[in-house]
Amino acid sequence: MGSDIQDLLRGLPAVDRVLLAVSALTQADLPHDLVTAEIQRQIAELRKGLLSGELTVVPALDTLARSVLDHLHQASHPSLKRVINASGILLHTNLGRAPLATEALEQIQQVAAGYSNLEIDLETGRRGSRHDHIEEILCRLTGAEAAMVVNNNAGAVLLALTALARGKEAIVSRGELVEIGGSFRIPEVMEAGGVVLREIGSSNRTHLRDYQQAIGPQTGLLLKVHTSNYRIIGFTSSVTAAELVALAQEKNLPLLEDLGSGLLRPLPNAALPEEPTIAEVVASGVDLLTCSGDKLLGGPQAGLIFGRRELVEKLRRHPLARALRTDKLSLAALDATLRLYQQGDDLKIPLLRFLARSQQELVERSRALAACLDVPGVQVEIVEDAAMMGGGAMPELQIPGPALALHVETLSLDRLAAALRTAEPSVVARIHNDRLLLNLRTVEPAEDSLIAELVKKSFQVAIASEKR
Ligand SMILES: *Cc1c(COP(=O)(O)O)cnc(C)c1O
Repeated sequence: MGSDIQDLLRGLPAVDRVLLAVSALTQADLPHDLVTAEIQRQIAELRKGLLSGELTVVPALDTLARSVLDHLHQASHPSLKRVINASGILLHTNLGRAPLATEALEQIQQVAAGYSNLEIDLETGRRGSRHDHIEEILCRLTGAEAAMVVNNNAGAVLLALTALARGKEAIVSRGELVEIGGSFRIPEVMEAGGVVLREIGSSNRTHLRDYQQAIGPQTGLLLKVHTSNYRIIGFTSSVTAAELVALAQEKNLPLLEDLGSGLLRPLPNAALPEEPTIAEVVASGVDLLTCSGDKLLGGPQAGLIFGRRELVEKLRRHPLARALRTDKLSLAALDATLRLYQQGDDLKIPLLRFLARSQQELVERSRALAACLDVPGVQVEIVEDAAMMGGGAMPELQIPGPALALHVETLSLDRLAAALRTAEPSVVARIHNDRLLLNLRTVEPAEDSLIAELVKKSFQVAIASEKR
């Protein structure tokens, strides 16, 4: 080891000295163990840097103390935090999918702040089931004979496949072997469930006779999957739900449909194509159907399962149901969200309210926001944009509406976008055609003026960081 490195290493301060320097910088009474551990961590990092040659000077004691305080400050804030979504992407897995209604949040507060009747029948005092709280309303809203809820839709599909077709074959059209969001692949879920995949047809064409020919003593179920995030167009052919229902009945096999998004009512925006509701799919005669709680339904993360009583019971009794069970917070939020649908208060659900926003409302809000953004060097105009569904069924679907476009000459837009993302609270915008776009469809009106403040502040932060 070179003697200059030895000298540098000797120059690293002792923990006690840094401790004193930290105390001199703050009035806060920080836990001693926490501060000491952070100092040790940073000194160890410096030592590693010096040894590898990445670092050639030891920082001043004061600089080190400040860095320790900065890290402790960051660590005192939760990592998961609020983001204002001005990207116009309605359902973004990276941004937590559907925001919850106030009523759902209040219900979580009610149920989770203390104890609850999660699994007790308060009338008899006997053990109850968490499914009982939600089954009745799920059935009333959809006409299903039975229903249950698990952790998420991937879990619902896994449970249904495992409980109904373990050790057997599930027949599915090649055109439906989808991968959703990189981690949910139907073939892999099937493998995990011990179900043998029997692919039929080609990617673009599957006929009823393909199903008929594949059915044999080894068949456990027929599976239909909603191809959420891609669409095969052109020379295509798929078998209708009615044909599959008839075939499943004739062969006495269960037909499972993974619907992906769960739609309880037609969506409140004329730009959106018709998508079957859960009730319609139930009525089509499918034996079992699964969907997500936090996609088009606008509720919490959950996997909803609807269908024939006998099959739902089989799923409930399966050991996997315990591993995939939903927690009381999600159950409370789902219950409250479903009650909004039941009362016809759909527009209290944020996702549906966002979808229902009129062009006129968005233009007016964008204009008002533009008027607040009198920042020298920033040109603001209102442009035609489109919000995107983002997830669930029809993710690529565009919902026309205006956006505020910021054009900045003195600054890279990436820097401005980064400053907005790291602001408090964070704002996520979109960059398109050399403009920073703020689409207000996914923003609550009460947050418009906050966005104006944050844009002004972030502009200054971005300029300062560009100079550095
Ligand atoms: C989104 C989706 C899933 C996964 O649902 P999660 O609730 O994210 O687990 C499964 N199948 C389809 C068709 C989907 O669209």
